[in-house]
Amino acid sequence: MMNDPDRLLARVIAQARALDIPISPHILPQVQLNRRAVTRFGCCIRQADGAYRIELAQRLLAAPEAACLQTLAHEVLHTCPGCRNHGPRWKAYAGRMNAAYGYAVSRTGTCQQLGVEDIRPIRHLVVCTRCGRQFPRTRLSPLVAHPERYRCTCGGTLRRAY
Ligand SMILES: [Zn+2]
Ligand SMILES: [Zn+2]
Repeated sequence: MMNDPDRLLARVIAQARALDIPISPHILPQVQLNRRAVTRFGCCIRQADGAYRIELAQRLLAAPEAACLQTLAHEVLHTCPGCRNHGPRWKAYAGRMNAAYGYAVSRTGTCQQLGVEDIRPIRHLVVCTRCGRQFPRTRLSPLVAHPERYRCTCGGTLRRAY
């Protein structure tokens, strides 16, 4: 069963608003799917007209719903004032989303991710079925081969998404 990205985006937006996190009122309701993204899962793009477009890697649609939700939550928080990067303000909001909804929003896995990992394609993705934490791997590893032998730090079971 595939995830419905627009529905999940609406849910994440409602969750952030419920916590009074000042996300932009101008987030486009339609998630743009990126078919070619291999090094990132999501992206938040500010258009010339001031609206924000949220991008999601198409491959994530087949992953557990929690993985989509926490990626969308990560991107939506970039629409808050002063949150273009993963600075203290963005981190504080991410911490509040994580505490309230059990997400594992962290700074990795997006177009803002810097460093050497960013240019190596992520060939395998293992995700937590509970909190959505992502374990991207550039090569086959014991975790990729046998995710059932491992647990997420939240205690959730792990599943290979691709
Ligand atoms: Zn980010
Ligand atoms: Zn977890």
